[in-house]
Amino acid sequence: MNNLPKPIRASSRQNEALPVAVSIDTIKPIRCLEDAVDRCQSLGMRLSRQRRFILELLWQAKEHLSAREIYDRLNQQGKAIGHTSVYQNLEALSSQGIIECIERSDGRLYGNISDSHSHVNCLDTNQILDVHVELPQDLIQHIEAETGVKITDYTINFYGYRQEKASDG
Ligand SMILES: [Zn+2]
Repeated sequence: MNNLPKPIRASSRQNEALPVAVSIDTIKPIRCLEDAVDRCQSLGMRLSRQRRFILELLWQAKEHLSAREIYDRLNQQGKAIGHTSVYQNLEALSSQGIIECIERSDGRLYGNISDSHSHVNCLDTNQILDVHVELPQDLIQHIEAETGVKITDYTINFYGYRQEKASDG
């Protein structure tokens, strides 16, 4: 028997589903692929080759992709990975808050940014773009006063159509 300190973990005896949002103030946000890898390691998650492939792809693509698209892209890159492995790894990574998972009517999409952010939904191209939006403090206070709820986090969905970008060189 040795006396190595055990990593502190929330014990959930009833095995209840814990919310994905982990306490933000104690854990540094994931800002790059290396951060994501570090987070896996600090959580004691095994970092298999397949799991690393998925993280690499999401950080390269910086899009919101379905499991099917992730599977297709990895195999196109010559990174042989099975369907089941893709699904299981996405599930594990998103349930640990390492990647983003959005539920849509036509299925789940996965993204590289795991901390709270907002989305611009392009109705013509079906793309979802990540944006960081900070609402003015007085607007938040107004919402708090109106609802009696202390706002601790928010995410906004914008919807619209692609505009022709003026070519500025
Ligand atoms: Zn996103």
